[in-house]
Amino acid sequence: MPMILDTILSSAVARRAGVPQATTLRRYEPGQPLVDAPVLLVGAGAYLGTLRSRLQDNGVHLVDDESSRDQTTRLGAVVLDLSDASCLADLDPLRTVLAPAVKRLSRNARVVVIGTDPRSLDTVTDAVTHRALEGFVRSLGKELRGGSTANLVLGRTGSSDGVGAAVEFLLSGRSAYVDGQVIRVDATPGPAPAETPSATPLAGKVAVVTGAARGIGAEIATVLARDGATVVCVDVPAAGDALARVANAVRGTALQLDVTAADAGQRIVAHAVDRHGSIDLVVHNAGITRDKLLVNMDEARWDAVLDVNLGSVLRMNEAVLADGAMGQGGRIVCVSSIAGIAGNRGQTNYGMSKAGVIGLVDALATAVRGRGITVNAVAPGFIETEMTQRVPFATREIGRRMNSLQQGGRPRDVAEAIAWLAQPGSGAVTGQVLRVCGQSLLGA
Ligand code: NAD
Repeated sequence: MPMILDTILSSAVARRAGVPQATTLRRYEPGQPLVDAPVLLVGAGAYLGTLRSRLQDNGVHLVDDESSRDQTTRLGAVVLDLSDASCLADLDPLRTVLAPAVKRLSRNARVVVIGTDPRSLDTVTDAVTHRALEGFVRSLGKELRGGSTANLVLGRTGSSDGVGAAVEFLLSGRSAYVDGQVIRVDATPGPAPAETPSATPLAGKVAVVTGAARGIGAEIATVLARDGATVVCVDVPAAGDALARVANAVRGTALQLDVTAADAGQRIVAHAVDRHGSIDLVVHNAGITRDKLLVNMDEARWDAVLDVNLGSVLRMNEAVLADGAMGQGGRIVCVSSIAGIAGNRGQTNYGMSKAGVIGLVDALATAVRGRGITVNAVAPGFIETEMTQRVPFATREIGRRMNSLQQGGRPRDVAEAIAWLAQPGSGAVTGQVLRVCGQSLLGA
Protein backbone atom coordinates (compact mmCIF):
# COMPACT_ATOMS: atom_id res chain seq x y z
CA MET A 1 0.00 0.00 0.00
CA PRO A 2 1.45 3.47 -0.86
CA MET A 3 2.69 5.27 2.26
CA ILE A 4 0.26 8.22 1.90
CA LEU A 5 -2.79 5.90 1.69
CA ASP A 6 -1.51 4.03 4.69
CA THR A 7 -1.27 7.27 6.68
CA ILE A 8 -4.83 8.31 5.72
CA LEU A 9 -6.17 4.85 6.61
CA SER A 10 -4.25 4.92 9.89
CA SER A 11 -5.79 8.30 10.89
CA ALA A 12 -9.26 7.09 9.91
CA VAL A 13 -8.88 3.94 12.03
CA ALA A 14 -7.65 6.02 14.96
CA ARG A 15 -10.62 8.42 14.66
CA ARG A 16 -13.13 5.57 14.62
CA ALA A 17 -11.46 3.89 17.57
CA GLY A 18 -11.49 7.18 19.53
CA VAL A 19 -7.68 7.19 19.75
CA PRO A 20 -6.26 10.75 19.92
CA GLN A 21 -4.81 12.06 16.64
CA ALA A 22 -1.05 12.31 16.65
CA THR A 23 0.51 15.78 16.79
CA THR A 24 2.60 16.87 13.81
CA LEU A 25 6.11 16.87 15.25
CA ARG A 26 8.42 19.88 15.08
CA ARG A 27 11.23 18.72 12.81
CA TYR A 28 14.47 20.51 12.06
CA GLU A 29 14.78 22.76 9.02
CA PRO A 30 18.02 24.64 8.38
CA GLY A 31 17.81 28.21 9.60
CA GLN A 32 14.97 27.64 12.06
CA PRO A 33 15.48 28.80 15.67
CA LEU A 34 16.64 26.18 18.18
CA VAL A 35 13.36 26.60 20.08
CA ASP A 36 10.52 28.86 18.96
CA ALA A 37 9.26 29.93 22.41
CA PRO A 38 10.91 31.08 25.68
CA VAL A 39 13.00 28.52 27.55
CA LEU A 40 12.98 28.24 31.35
CA LEU A 41 16.55 27.49 32.48
CA VAL A 42 16.73 26.63 36.18
CA GLY A 43 18.62 24.65 38.80
CA ALA A 44 21.82 25.00 40.75
CA GLY A 45 24.04 22.59 38.86
CA ALA A 46 27.50 22.87 37.39
CA TYR A 47 26.38 23.48 33.81
CA LEU A 48 24.00 26.38 34.35
CA GLY A 49 26.49 29.17 33.55
CA THR A 50 27.86 27.55 30.39
CA LEU A 51 24.38 26.67 29.22
CA ARG A 52 23.08 30.18 29.81
CA SER A 53 25.73 31.81 27.65
CA ARG A 54 25.65 29.07 25.03
CA LEU A 55 21.87 29.19 24.61
CA GLN A 56 21.80 32.99 24.60
CA ASP A 57 24.50 33.01 21.90
CA ASN A 58 22.22 30.74 19.90
CA GLY A 59 19.38 33.26 20.09
CA VAL A 60 17.30 31.40 22.69
CA HIS A 61 15.01 33.62 24.78
CA LEU A 62 15.76 32.48 28.34
CA VAL A 63 13.44 33.18 31.24
CA ASP A 64 13.79 32.50 34.95
CA ASP A 65 11.26 30.75 37.13
CA GLU A 66 9.62 33.86 38.57
CA SER A 67 9.19 35.78 35.34
CA SER A 68 7.99 32.66 33.55
CA ARG A 69 5.22 32.23 36.15
CA ASP A 70 4.05 35.80 35.46
CA GLN A 71 4.02 35.31 31.73
CA THR A 72 1.00 34.20 29.83
CA THR A 73 3.22 33.01 26.99
CA ARG A 74 3.85 29.30 26.67
CA LEU A 75 7.27 27.77 27.31
CA GLY A 76 9.11 26.09 24.45
CA ALA A 77 11.25 24.10 26.87
CA VAL A 78 12.38 23.67 30.45
CA VAL A 79 16.02 22.85 31.18
CA LEU A 80 16.59 21.85 34.79
CA ASP A 81 20.19 21.39 35.93
CA LEU A 82 20.33 19.12 38.97
CA SER A 83 23.89 17.93 38.39
CA ASP A 84 24.95 19.13 41.86
CA ALA A 85 22.24 17.20 43.73
CA SER A 86 23.68 15.12 46.55
CA CYS A 87 20.57 13.71 48.26
CA LEU A 88 16.96 12.98 47.35
CA ALA A 89 15.78 16.27 48.88
CA ASP A 90 17.90 18.09 46.28
CA LEU A 91 15.59 16.63 43.63
CA ASP A 92 12.58 18.57 44.98
CA PRO A 93 12.71 21.09 42.09
CA LEU A 94 11.41 18.29 39.86
CA ARG A 95 8.09 18.76 41.65
CA THR A 96 8.23 22.35 42.87
CA VAL A 97 9.63 23.98 39.71
CA LEU A 98 9.15 21.54 36.88
CA ALA A 99 5.58 20.47 37.66
CA PRO A 100 4.11 24.01 37.40
CA ALA A 101 6.24 24.70 34.32
CA VAL A 102 4.92 21.59 32.56
CA LYS A 103 1.45 23.16 32.69
CA ARG A 104 2.79 26.10 30.67
CA LEU A 105 4.49 24.08 27.93
CA SER A 106 3.62 24.78 24.31
CA ARG A 107 3.06 21.99 21.78
CA ASN A 108 6.21 20.15 20.74
CA ALA A 109 8.00 21.45 23.83
CA ARG A 110 11.04 19.89 25.46
CA VAL A 111 11.90 18.99 29.02
CA VAL A 112 15.61 18.37 29.53
CA VAL A 113 16.88 17.35 32.97
CA ILE A 114 20.62 17.36 33.62
CA GLY A 115 22.23 15.09 36.19
CA THR A 116 25.61 13.52 36.83
CA ASP A 117 26.57 10.10 35.49
CA PRO A 118 26.15 7.82 38.56
CA ARG A 119 29.16 5.78 37.39
CA SER A 120 31.38 8.79 38.06
CA LEU A 121 30.14 9.29 41.63
CA ASP A 122 31.81 7.95 44.79
CA THR A 123 29.05 7.64 47.38
CA VAL A 124 26.00 5.41 47.29
CA THR A 125 23.71 8.34 48.12
CA ASP A 126 25.07 10.39 45.21
CA ALA A 127 24.75 7.49 42.79
CA VAL A 128 21.19 6.71 43.94
CA THR A 129 20.16 10.35 43.66
CA HIS A 130 21.29 10.64 40.04
CA ARG A 131 20.07 7.20 38.99
CA ALA A 132 16.63 8.19 40.28
CA LEU A 133 16.45 10.90 37.62
CA GLU A 134 16.17 8.26 34.93
CA GLY A 135 12.90 6.89 36.30
CA PHE A 136 11.53 10.40 36.67
CA VAL A 137 12.29 11.43 33.10
CA ARG A 138 11.04 8.19 31.57
CA SER A 139 7.77 8.55 33.49
CA LEU A 140 7.35 12.22 32.60
CA GLY A 141 7.91 11.34 28.93
CA LYS A 142 4.85 9.11 29.17
CA GLU A 143 2.76 11.91 30.71
CA LEU A 144 3.58 14.70 28.24
CA ARG A 145 1.26 15.21 25.27
CA GLY A 146 1.17 17.32 22.11
CA GLY A 147 4.49 16.13 20.67
CA SER A 148 6.46 17.21 23.75
CA THR A 149 9.36 15.07 24.99
CA ALA A 150 11.39 14.58 28.18
CA ASN A 151 15.01 13.45 28.14
CA LEU A 152 17.94 13.24 30.55
CA VAL A 153 21.56 14.32 30.00
CA LEU A 154 24.15 12.90 32.39
CA GLY A 155 27.49 14.70 32.56
CA ARG A 156 30.66 14.25 34.56
CA THR A 157 33.66 16.41 35.39
CA GLY A 158 34.96 18.19 32.29
CA SER A 159 31.90 17.57 30.17
CA SER A 160 30.28 21.01 29.98
CA ASP A 161 30.81 21.48 26.22
CA GLY A 162 29.45 18.01 25.55
CA VAL A 163 26.48 18.61 27.85
CA GLY A 164 25.78 21.88 26.01
CA ALA A 165 25.83 20.08 22.65
CA ALA A 166 23.49 17.35 23.94
CA VAL A 167 21.04 19.91 25.37
CA GLU A 168 21.00 21.79 22.06
CA PHE A 169 20.26 18.58 20.16
CA LEU A 170 17.40 17.74 22.50
CA LEU A 171 15.93 21.25 22.31
CA SER A 172 16.09 21.31 18.51
CA GLY A 173 13.77 19.76 15.94
CA ARG A 174 16.54 17.23 15.22
CA SER A 175 15.38 15.20 18.23
CA ALA A 176 11.68 15.12 17.27
CA TYR A 177 11.30 11.34 17.79
CA VAL A 178 13.78 10.99 20.70
CA ASP A 179 11.77 10.70 23.90
CA GLY A 180 12.38 9.28 27.38
CA GLN A 181 16.08 8.76 26.65
CA VAL A 182 19.34 9.22 28.55
CA ILE A 183 22.43 10.71 26.89
CA ARG A 184 25.70 10.17 28.80
CA VAL A 185 28.43 12.70 28.14
CA ASP A 186 32.09 12.00 28.90
CA ALA A 187 34.74 14.66 29.47
CA THR A 188 34.99 16.65 26.24
CA PRO A 189 38.09 15.59 24.34
CA GLY A 190 40.48 17.95 22.56
CA PRO A 191 39.85 21.61 21.86
CA ALA A 192 36.41 22.95 22.70
CA PRO A 193 34.07 22.76 19.70
CA ALA A 194 32.66 25.97 18.24
CA GLU A 195 29.67 27.07 20.28
CA THR A 196 27.82 28.84 17.50
CA PRO A 197 25.92 26.25 15.52
CA SER A 198 26.88 26.14 11.88
CA ALA A 199 24.44 25.34 9.07
CA THR A 200 27.02 22.83 7.82
CA PRO A 201 28.61 21.22 10.91
CA LEU A 202 29.93 18.32 8.79
CA ALA A 203 31.67 20.47 6.16
CA GLY A 204 34.91 18.84 4.99
CA LYS A 205 33.93 15.39 6.31
CA VAL A 206 33.70 12.29 4.15
CA ALA A 207 30.90 9.94 5.17
CA VAL A 208 30.05 6.40 4.02
CA VAL A 209 26.47 5.18 4.32
CA THR A 210 25.63 1.53 3.63
CA GLY A 211 22.17 0.57 2.41
CA ALA A 212 21.81 4.08 0.99
CA ALA A 213 19.60 3.28 -2.01
CA ARG A 214 16.32 3.70 -0.15
CA GLY A 215 14.54 4.03 3.18
CA ILE A 216 16.47 5.19 6.20
CA GLY A 217 19.84 4.95 4.41
CA ALA A 218 18.78 7.32 1.61
CA GLU A 219 17.59 9.80 4.21
CA ILE A 220 20.83 9.50 6.20
CA ALA A 221 22.78 10.33 3.02
CA THR A 222 20.49 13.31 2.36
CA VAL A 223 20.80 14.74 5.88
CA LEU A 224 24.57 14.24 6.08
CA ALA A 225 24.97 16.02 2.73
CA ARG A 226 22.66 18.83 3.88
CA ASP A 227 24.94 19.23 6.89
CA GLY A 228 27.98 19.60 4.64
CA ALA A 229 29.45 16.08 4.33
CA THR A 230 30.59 14.44 1.10
CA VAL A 231 28.72 11.15 1.04
CA VAL A 232 29.73 7.78 -0.41
CA CYS A 233 26.48 5.87 -0.95
CA VAL A 234 26.83 2.08 -0.77
CA ASP A 235 24.26 -0.55 -1.75
CA VAL A 236 23.96 -3.87 -3.58
CA PRO A 237 24.39 -3.88 -7.39
CA ALA A 238 20.71 -4.88 -7.78
CA ALA A 239 19.76 -1.49 -6.29
CA GLY A 240 22.17 0.30 -8.66
CA ASP A 241 19.65 2.67 -10.31
CA ALA A 242 18.14 3.83 -7.05
CA LEU A 243 21.61 4.15 -5.56
CA ALA A 244 22.78 6.34 -8.45
CA ARG A 245 19.73 8.58 -7.99
CA VAL A 246 20.48 9.08 -4.28
CA ALA A 247 24.20 9.64 -4.91
CA ASN A 248 23.44 12.22 -7.62
CA ALA A 249 20.89 13.99 -5.47
CA VAL A 250 23.38 14.39 -2.61
CA ARG A 251 26.27 15.19 -5.02
CA GLY A 252 28.19 12.25 -3.61
CA THR A 253 29.46 9.06 -5.20
CA ALA A 254 27.88 5.60 -5.53
CA LEU A 255 29.66 2.39 -4.66
CA GLN A 256 27.85 -0.80 -5.69
CA LEU A 257 28.86 -3.37 -3.15
CA ASP A 258 27.43 -6.21 -1.11
CA VAL A 259 28.52 -5.45 2.44
CA THR A 260 28.92 -9.16 3.14
CA ALA A 261 31.78 -9.42 0.62
CA ALA A 262 35.02 -10.39 2.36
CA ASP A 263 36.79 -7.27 1.02
CA ALA A 264 33.86 -4.84 1.49
CA GLY A 265 35.68 -2.80 4.14
CA GLN A 266 38.86 -2.48 2.08
CA ARG A 267 36.88 -1.41 -1.00
CA ILE A 268 34.95 1.18 1.00
CA VAL A 269 38.13 2.66 2.47
CA ALA A 270 39.87 2.67 -0.93
CA HIS A 271 36.89 4.39 -2.60
CA ALA A 272 36.50 7.06 0.08
CA VAL A 273 40.21 7.85 0.33
CA ASP A 274 40.98 7.68 -3.42
CA ARG A 275 37.94 9.69 -4.52
CA HIS A 276 37.50 12.06 -1.60
CA GLY A 277 40.74 12.08 0.42
CA SER A 278 39.62 10.59 3.77
CA ILE A 279 37.07 8.53 5.64
CA ASP A 280 35.67 10.39 8.64
CA LEU A 281 32.31 8.73 9.26
CA VAL A 282 30.89 5.29 8.56
CA VAL A 283 27.18 4.63 9.04
CA HIS A 284 26.40 0.90 9.09
CA ASN A 285 22.78 1.12 8.03
CA ALA A 286 22.35 -1.81 5.58
CA GLY A 287 20.09 -4.36 7.21
CA ILE A 288 17.60 -7.09 6.38
CA THR A 289 14.86 -9.08 8.08
CA ARG A 290 14.01 -12.72 7.32
CA ASP A 291 11.34 -13.42 9.95
CA LYS A 292 10.27 -16.89 11.08
CA LEU A 293 9.56 -18.46 14.43
CA LEU A 294 12.70 -20.20 15.67
CA VAL A 295 11.13 -23.63 15.15
CA ASN A 296 10.70 -22.84 11.44
CA MET A 297 13.96 -20.93 10.99
CA ASP A 298 16.07 -22.31 8.14
CA GLU A 299 19.81 -21.91 7.78
CA ALA A 300 19.59 -19.43 4.91
CA ARG A 301 17.41 -16.95 6.85
CA TRP A 302 19.54 -17.32 9.94
CA ASP A 303 22.87 -16.85 8.17
CA ALA A 304 21.76 -14.00 5.90
CA VAL A 305 20.46 -11.82 8.72
CA LEU A 306 23.45 -12.41 10.98
CA ASP A 307 25.93 -11.73 8.21
CA VAL A 308 24.34 -8.59 6.72
CA ASN A 309 23.39 -7.03 10.06
CA LEU A 310 26.36 -7.99 12.22
CA GLY A 311 29.16 -10.09 10.65
CA SER A 312 29.76 -7.59 7.86
CA VAL A 313 29.81 -4.70 10.32
CA LEU A 314 32.54 -6.39 12.37
CA ARG A 315 34.63 -7.05 9.23
CA MET A 316 34.16 -3.56 7.78
CA ASN A 317 35.16 -1.93 11.06
CA GLU A 318 38.40 -3.90 11.07
CA ALA A 319 39.29 -2.46 7.67
CA VAL A 320 38.17 1.06 8.57
CA LEU A 321 40.22 1.05 11.77
CA ALA A 322 43.29 -0.66 10.29
CA ASP A 323 46.43 1.33 9.46
CA GLY A 324 44.94 4.60 10.67
CA ALA A 325 42.48 4.81 7.74
CA MET A 326 40.09 6.65 10.06
CA GLY A 327 41.85 9.35 12.07
CA GLN A 328 41.25 11.50 15.14
CA GLY A 329 37.66 12.76 15.24
CA GLY A 330 36.41 9.73 13.29
CA ARG A 331 32.91 8.43 13.83
CA ILE A 332 31.29 5.03 13.50
CA VAL A 333 27.53 4.89 13.85
CA CYS A 334 25.64 1.59 13.69
CA VAL A 335 21.93 1.11 13.19
CA SER A 336 20.54 -1.29 15.79
CA SER A 337 16.84 -1.69 16.57
CA ILE A 338 14.55 -1.86 19.57
CA ALA A 339 14.15 -5.53 18.55
CA GLY A 340 17.76 -5.90 19.70
CA ILE A 341 16.77 -4.48 23.10
CA ALA A 342 13.32 -5.94 23.69
CA GLY A 343 13.34 -8.94 21.36
CA ASN A 344 10.50 -9.60 18.95
CA ARG A 345 8.44 -12.69 18.14
CA GLY A 346 9.56 -14.21 14.85
CA GLN A 347 12.82 -12.28 14.92
CA THR A 348 15.30 -14.42 16.87
CA ASN A 349 17.83 -13.93 14.06
CA TYR A 350 17.19 -10.20 13.69
CA GLY A 351 16.98 -9.47 17.43
CA MET A 352 20.21 -11.38 17.95
CA SER A 353 22.01 -9.46 15.20
CA LYS A 354 20.82 -6.10 16.49
CA ALA A 355 21.75 -6.95 20.10
CA GLY A 356 25.17 -7.96 18.79
CA VAL A 357 25.47 -4.49 17.26
CA ILE A 358 24.93 -3.01 20.73
CA GLY A 359 27.66 -5.26 22.12
CA LEU A 360 29.95 -4.17 19.32
CA VAL A 361 29.38 -0.51 20.11
CA ASP A 362 30.08 -1.12 23.79
CA ALA A 363 33.33 -2.96 23.24
CA LEU A 364 34.69 -1.03 20.28
CA ALA A 365 34.05 2.38 21.82
CA THR A 366 36.34 1.46 24.69
CA ALA A 367 38.98 0.03 22.37
CA VAL A 368 39.26 3.15 20.17
CA ARG A 369 38.62 5.82 22.80
CA GLY A 370 42.33 6.69 22.92
CA ARG A 371 42.31 7.35 19.17
CA GLY A 372 39.64 10.06 19.40
CA ILE A 373 37.11 7.96 17.47
CA THR A 374 33.58 7.53 18.76
CA VAL A 375 31.38 4.47 18.21
CA ASN A 376 27.64 4.71 18.81
CA ALA A 377 24.40 3.18 17.64
CA VAL A 378 20.93 4.46 17.06
CA ALA A 379 18.07 2.07 17.79
CA PRO A 380 15.04 3.02 15.71
CA GLY A 381 11.59 2.05 16.88
CA PHE A 382 8.73 1.92 14.39
CA ILE A 383 9.86 3.94 11.36
CA GLU A 384 7.66 4.41 8.29
CA THR A 385 9.69 2.66 5.54
CA GLU A 386 9.30 -0.08 2.95
CA MET A 387 10.56 -2.52 5.60
CA THR A 388 7.68 -1.70 7.96
CA GLN A 389 5.21 -1.38 5.03
CA ARG A 390 5.56 -5.14 4.64
CA VAL A 391 4.17 -5.74 8.15
CA PRO A 392 0.40 -6.64 8.08
CA PHE A 393 -1.81 -3.54 8.57
CA ALA A 394 -3.22 -4.40 12.02
CA THR A 395 0.21 -5.24 13.47
CA ARG A 396 1.63 -2.14 11.80
CA GLU A 397 -1.09 0.05 13.30
CA ILE A 398 -0.30 -1.25 16.79
CA GLY A 399 3.45 -0.84 16.17
CA ARG A 400 3.19 2.78 15.14
CA ARG A 401 0.99 3.79 18.08
CA MET A 402 2.71 1.93 20.92
CA ASN A 403 4.87 4.85 21.98
CA SER A 404 4.54 8.11 23.90
CA LEU A 405 4.26 10.20 20.71
CA GLN A 406 1.51 7.89 19.40
CA GLN A 407 2.88 7.75 15.86
CA GLY A 408 5.56 6.12 13.75
CA GLY A 409 8.80 7.96 13.22
CA ARG A 410 10.20 9.04 9.87
CA PRO A 411 13.50 8.02 8.30
CA ARG A 412 14.49 11.67 8.74
CA ASP A 413 14.26 11.29 12.55
CA VAL A 414 16.82 8.48 12.53
CA ALA A 415 19.02 10.41 10.11
CA GLU A 416 18.99 13.53 12.30
CA ALA A 417 20.15 11.57 15.35
CA ILE A 418 22.99 10.02 13.33
CA ALA A 419 23.98 13.40 11.89
CA TRP A 420 24.13 14.80 15.42
CA LEU A 421 26.34 11.93 16.64
CA ALA A 422 28.62 12.69 13.66
CA GLN A 423 29.11 16.34 14.58
CA PRO A 424 32.44 17.53 16.04
CA GLY A 425 30.55 18.75 19.12
CA SER A 426 29.36 15.21 19.89
CA GLY A 427 32.88 13.86 20.47
CA ALA A 428 32.14 13.29 24.16
CA VAL A 429 29.33 10.84 23.39
CA THR A 430 30.58 7.31 22.75
CA GLY A 431 29.62 3.70 23.41
CA GLN A 432 25.95 4.60 23.53
CA VAL A 433 22.72 3.46 22.00
CA LEU A 434 20.41 6.35 21.29
CA ARG A 435 16.88 5.13 20.79
CA VAL A 436 14.86 6.98 18.17
CA CYS A 437 11.54 5.40 18.99
CA GLY A 438 9.17 8.04 20.40
CA GLN A 439 9.62 6.21 23.73
CA SER A 440 8.32 2.90 22.43
CA LEU A 441 6.74 0.72 25.07
CA LEU A 442 8.87 -2.13 23.73
CA GLY A 443 12.02 -2.61 25.75
CA ALA A 444 11.38 0.58 27.69
P1 NAD B 1 15.12 -1.03 3.76
O1 NAD B 1 14.89 -2.47 3.51
O2 NAD B 1 14.11 -0.06 3.25
O3 NAD B 1 16.57 -0.59 3.21
C1 NAD B 1 17.73 -1.34 3.48
C2 NAD B 1 18.77 -1.08 2.41
O4 NAD B 1 19.92 -1.90 2.70
C3 NAD B 1 18.29 -1.46 1.01
O5 NAD B 1 18.58 -0.44 0.09
C4 NAD B 1 19.06 -2.72 0.72
O6 NAD B 1 19.32 -2.92 -0.68
C5 NAD B 1 20.35 -2.49 1.50
N1 NAD B 1 21.05 -3.75 1.74
C6 NAD B 1 20.51 -4.91 2.20
N2 NAD B 1 21.45 -5.88 2.20
C7 NAD B 1 22.59 -5.30 1.76
C8 NAD B 1 23.90 -5.80 1.53
N3 NAD B 1 24.23 -7.08 1.75
N4 NAD B 1 24.85 -4.94 1.07
C9 NAD B 1 24.55 -3.65 0.81
N5 NAD B 1 23.31 -3.12 1.01
C10 NAD B 1 22.35 -3.96 1.46
O7 NAD B 1 15.29 -0.91 5.33
P2 NAD B 1 15.11 0.36 6.31
O8 NAD B 1 13.78 0.27 6.96
O9 NAD B 1 15.50 1.63 5.64
O10 NAD B 1 16.18 -0.04 7.46
C11 NAD B 1 17.49 0.49 7.49
C12 NAD B 1 18.15 0.01 8.78
O11 NAD B 1 17.36 0.42 9.91
C13 NAD B 1 18.30 -1.50 8.88
O12 NAD B 1 19.53 -1.82 9.49
C14 NAD B 1 17.15 -1.90 9.77
O13 NAD B 1 17.39 -3.12 10.43
C15 NAD B 1 17.08 -0.72 10.71
N6 NAD B 1 15.79 -0.53 11.38
C16 NAD B 1 14.68 -0.19 10.68
C17 NAD B 1 13.48 0.00 11.36
C18 NAD B 1 12.21 0.42 10.68
O14 NAD B 1 11.20 0.59 11.35
N7 NAD B 1 12.19 0.60 9.36
C19 NAD B 1 13.43 -0.17 12.75
C20 NAD B 1 14.58 -0.54 13.42
C21 NAD B 1 15.76 -0.69 12.73
